[in-house]
Amino acid sequence: MSAPRLEIDLDKIFHNARTLVERLADCGISVTGVTKAALGSPDIAATLLRAGVSGLGDSRIENIETMRSAGVSAPFTLIRSPMLSQTDEVVRNAGVSLNTEIDVIRELSRAGQRAGRVHGIVLMVELGDLREGIMPEDLPKVVGETLCLPNLVFKGIGCNLACRSGVSPDAENMAELSALAVAIETEFGATVEVVSGGNSANLAWALSGADTGRINDLRLGESVLLGRETLHREPIDGLHTDAIALVAEVIESKSKPTQPRGEIAQTAFGETPTAIDRGSISQVILAIGIQDTDPDGLSPPHGIEILAASSDHLIVESRDARVAIGAEMKFQLNYSALVRAMTSPFVQNVVKPETRRPAGFAQD
Ligand SMILES: *Cc1c(COP(=O)(O)O)cnc(C)c1O
Repeated sequence: MSAPRLEIDLDKIFHNARTLVERLADCGISVTGVTKAALGSPDIAATLLRAGVSGLGDSRIENIETMRSAGVSAPFTLIRSPMLSQTDEVVRNAGVSLNTEIDVIRELSRAGQRAGRVHGIVLMVELGDLREGIMPEDLPKVVGETLCLPNLVFKGIGCNLACRSGVSPDAENMAELSALAVAIETEFGATVEVVSGGNSANLAWALSGADTGRINDLRLGESVLLGRETLHREPIDGLHTDAIALVAEVIESKSKPTQPRGEIAQTAFGETPTAIDRGSISQVILAIGIQDTDPDGLSPPHGIEILAASSDHLIVESRDARVAIGAEMKFQLNYSALVRAMTSPFVQNVVKPETRRPAGFAQD
């Protein structure tokens, strides 16, 4: 099999998604499965749908187009604010988008008229993390105008925390989002159908038994794919953390000193490393590099330590044994390593064939 490759276990992804869907259903919250770290993989998308997510969300309209052309049928939400220049594609491919700018919303309305379609709008509210969101005091004005525009339907509100600034979802900011939903209904007599509370960082809050108020949706990506919550990156009880693994091939394996020889200046990436002399070690080079993944986000197998990486080389130490040329090594990935590997044209995405199910196959 070719290397480097991502080995994708759909059964484990199914289990993770199903478990979270069931746990959240008990608090009245549905799951939008987020596919952006999977580059819109139709296999992963179909697996999430079988596991019971209520719809799929992606930050790139191109990924949504990929899934749709592969025959994935689901309610699709674009979870990054549409670019003004892409509103026609957005209206054609996504039923709903998350929005923060009235100029974009107006253009989505015009694109809806051109396409003869009605597009759903979820308005994102800024609740402290300082990434996307309408300031809460400006929300009523935007709701008011959205309700008046043709070919749009106001679906609800949402927020996104713990991305830019690491602000934790808690009783206070979630209650604020619920209160905004109630205030909109009172002021406009409109139904706020969707109240999307956030991402994988919201799981601790949602599953703590706290009052979830009006929150009825979470958009989950990382927790489903990697089995971890995202506030402290702890494994989530009962979930698989190894549903996706990165496999790379050994191209050099030698006993080498730990101390470089010659005058030390900058490395390929502008660093000036300092080496501690530990004598000779078993040094191994794998054919994968910074171009393909985030080496800092890789967890090596037992007995292997990552020493350094450049564009195309990952240098590791093998503590126990010499490693053969052509041997493969399997690494676990964090989110950053996963996203980079998924988007590298040099890394194959390989679904474990025994975990692929025919469409409509019911599992469990
Ligand atoms: C990426 C993203 C998500 C999913 O986040 P995870 O941490 O992967 O669960 C949800 N909402 C928005 C707006 C996003 O950009």
